[in-house]
Amino acid sequence: MELKQIRPETTENLDGCPDPAGRSLVAGKVDLKGLDEAEMVSMCEELGEPAYRGRQLFSWIYGKRAPSFEGMTNLSKPFRERLAERARVGVLAPERLEEGADGTGKFVWRLGDGEHIESVRIPMPGREGEKRWALCISTQVGCAMGCTFCLTAKMGFVRQLSAGEIVEQYLAAARRLPEGEHFRNVVFMGMGEPLDNFGPTVKAARLLIHPNGVALSPRRLTVSTVGITPRLKEFIEAVPGVGLAVSLHAADEETRSRIVPVNRKWGMADLLRACRELSAHERRRITFEYVLLKGLNDSPEDARRLAARLQGVRCKINLLPWNPFEGGSFERPSESRVEGFRAVLAAQGYIATVRQSRGLDIRAACGQLVDDVKMAERAGKVRRSTPAPMR
Ligand code: SF4
Repeated sequence: MELKQIRPETTENLDGCPDPAGRSLVAGKVDLKGLDEAEMVSMCEELGEPAYRGRQLFSWIYGKRAPSFEGMTNLSKPFRERLAERARVGVLAPERLEEGADGTGKFVWRLGDGEHIESVRIPMPGREGEKRWALCISTQVGCAMGCTFCLTAKMGFVRQLSAGEIVEQYLAAARRLPEGEHFRNVVFMGMGEPLDNFGPTVKAARLLIHPNGVALSPRRLTVSTVGITPRLKEFIEAVPGVGLAVSLHAADEETRSRIVPVNRKWGMADLLRACRELSAHERRRITFEYVLLKGLNDSPEDARRLAARLQGVRCKINLLPWNPFEGGSFERPSESRVEGFRAVLAAQGYIATVRQSRGLDIRAACGQLVDDVKMAERAGKVRRSTPAPMR
């Protein structure tokens, strides 16, 4: 495993303390990262500039991934100076990039308040001479959902990320790709439950697909949820065309409630009813994620039950053999057991694939993301120094 110390950005870090409107404030300055196009237009108009200036600014921040005002050459210098008095361009501070044997890279970002989040870039097969990646980003620091097979759950919930902090994971990671390489797919599948941070998640997704900004195709963005059932429809209506992945992980209510505690509040029957309706009305295929835990939910009988329960939902199923971590209380099933499970689903006419575990050696695979410092604090092994006051 190779650990890279990354040169810090030259501009300020995202302070990570969003105001109620989702903006980050440092010494009274508005962080442009996280503002949408209408908000930037309105700010420029307040500064006496025409609306198109706001659109240019939006394009610099998200489309060209500018980390500061300096390079925004089609904005006049006096205007950039006035902007800098009022606003700032927040960037995430990269603490390190860990690179695994399979080419997967895990960014550990330090937020302005001292918290840490992680994003994972995964190499994807591309055409000859083309290098492309998938990027998995976080939506919360920690997670409140308590899934028993997931290391992030052991951190508990720390705080929500702002829309700017979510989008900046993409922008900061993209700034570090070599020339000519790009992120083809983006998934909100890192630390946290996206729909438990609904407003910033929706705003970040809109910023990523905005044609004047990052311009990611909606088909290339997927948001994963553990099943906050009342929010599903609202989310799909808020960001049409974006992919939805639902973490199911069991074929019956009892097993699901054991490993996905949120099932006790929003049960599997209601969740699948909502998915069935969405897939029918929106004519969309939903992805179901299913972590395979040896001896718990990985039998051929479980696969048959799952197939029966998914009837009528346009879907595909991603099978994820459990990724182990220290202190985890499950076992990963054998390859033949996993293939047997997949074959039962395929025989019933489902598209079922086994997701390869990527970045296992750097603990970057699904369910393995965590803030080590926070975990050590929780275990009483270290005491974190008080974060510096915000700038
Ligand atoms: S699996 Fe996802 S929703 Fe469940 S605890 Fe982990 S991060 Fe949260």
